[in-house]
Amino acid sequence: MLSNHPLLVLAFLAACSPTEQAQEGSPETATTVELPAYRGVVLVTIDTLRADHVSLHGYLRETTPFLDELAERSVVFENAQASMPFTGPSHSSILTGLHPFQHKVMVNGQSLSPKIPNVAMAFRDAGYRTSAFVSTSFLRSVTKSFDEVSLGKRTGRATVKQAVQWAEELEPGTPFFMWVHLFNVHEWEVEKLKKERRPELAEGSFPLDPDAWYDYLARHHGWPMVQATDPFPEFSWDSNGRVITSREILLETVDLYDARVQYVDASVRLLFNKLGQVIGEDPALWLITSDHGEGLGSHNYKGHSGKIFQEQLHVPLLVFQQPALTPRRVSGVVSLVDVAPTLTAGLDPQPPAWESLSLWPLILGEQSGFSRPAFAQRSPVGSAGDVFALIHEGQKYLYRAKHQDAFYDLTTDPQELSSNIDAPDAEATRSMLHAQLKALDWSVGGQDTDISDLPEDILQELKALGYVE
Ligand SMILES: [Zn+2]
Repeated sequence: MLSNHPLLVLAFLAACSPTEQAQEGSPETATTVELPAYRGVVLVTIDTLRADHVSLHGYLRETTPFLDELAERSVVFENAQASMPFTGPSHSSILTGLHPFQHKVMVNGQSLSPKIPNVAMAFRDAGYRTSAFVSTSFLRSVTKSFDEVSLGKRTGRATVKQAVQWAEELEPGTPFFMWVHLFNVHEWEVEKLKKERRPELAEGSFPLDPDAWYDYLARHHGWPMVQATDPFPEFSWDSNGRVITSREILLETVDLYDARVQYVDASVRLLFNKLGQVIGEDPALWLITSDHGEGLGSHNYKGHSGKIFQEQLHVPLLVFQQPALTPRRVSGVVSLVDVAPTLTAGLDPQPPAWESLSLWPLILGEQSGFSRPAFAQRSPVGSAGDVFALIHEGQKYLYRAKHQDAFYDLTTDPQELSSNIDAPDAEATRSMLHAQLKALDWSVGGQDTDISDLPEDILQELKALGYVE
C-alpha cells in the first residue's frame, strides 16, 4: 500500500548484472534518496521519435516547443539508448527493465509473459490504479498487467482524451500509474497530417534558406551533398532498394516526419495540462521518452527495425517531478531498461530487484553517468543475421554475425559514417566491449512465444505496418 508518510527513505542498491561485474568488478554506487509518495505517475512513450529531430536536443527546427519548455523544469537525459528499435520489444524492455533477449518479446505481437515482473504489477501491488492508453492494437500483447487498457489505431489527441477521461473519473485522491503511448510520429495519418500541418511548416518552421536547410539536413543524415542545380546521384535508402532521385523527396520526408513530431508534442502538452488539473498540487512524476528512433536515409535506410545506428537507438528521455527537481542535463549513457527501476523507486512495498539501474542518482546529480555500457540488439527480422551494439563513453562497437564488425567514435563521428575497426587506438575498447557482449546473461527471462495465433485484426495491423509478411 501507499505509505502514509509524505516521504519515503529509499536505499538504491543498484542491480549488478554480469555486465557491470565484468567491467568494473563492483556494482554501481549505492545511493539513498528521498522521494514523495506520488499521486500520479505518468509514462509517455512517443513512438519512433529520434532524439536528433527534437529541438530539445538541438535540432534547428522547433519540433517540440512543449518539451523544450518542460525541459527547463526537468532532468533531460542527452544519451538515452533503446535496447531494440522495435515497438513491442522496446516497450517490453521499458516495462520490465529487461533486454528483449531476456523478456523474449523479440517481434511485434509476441506476448509479454505475466510471470516476468513489470512496472504495472509493481504499482498495483503498491495500491495504485494502473492504466494503459495505447495508440495501436498490436501492443495489447504487452498490456495484460494493467487494470485498465484502452487500445486502438487512433491519433494522439484521441488517446489523450481517453486517458484524461479515465483519470477524471477516479475517486478523488486515488493514486494512479498511467502509460500513454502516442503513435503519430510513425507512418499513420500521413495524408491527414500532410494536409493539416504542411502549410504551417512551410510558413514558419524553416530556420534557414532552402539550400542551407538541405545542406544542414544532408550533413545530419549523410545524404548526398549536392546543389539544387546539380544532377542528383542515385541514392538507395531502404531494404527494398528504393532509389531516391531528388533533393525534394528527401526534404518532403523530413517535413512530414517533423510535422508529426510537432503534432505529438502538442498532444503531450494537452495531456500534461489536463492531467495537471486532476493531480493538482499533489506529488507527481512524469517520464517522457520514445521506444526507438527512425532512419531517414542515413546509412541508406529508411525505418527502424532493421538497423541499430544512432538514428534508430538514440531517443529523448525527460523526467519531470512535482515538487520540482533541480533542472539539469545528464550526458552519461543510459538505457531504456533503466526506466522501470526509476518509475518504481518510491514504491512501498518495493518490487523485486530489477536487472537494470535506477536513474535517480543521475536525476539528483549524485552521479554523472553509469560505468555500465548500453546494450542494443537488432530485431531478428529478415536475413541480415544478428547485430548487437554496445555504447560506452562516446564509443560504439557493432558486432555483426554476417558482416565485418564496426567501431565508431561518436564524439567525432556522431553519424557513424566512418568505422575505425582497424585503428590501433580502437583495440582496447573493442576488446572491452567484446568481453561485455560475451558476458551478458541470456537466460534471465521469459519463454519464446509465436504470433501465429494472433487475432485477425492485429495481424492486419502488423501487415499494414510491414512487420508481418
Ligand atoms: Zn515503435
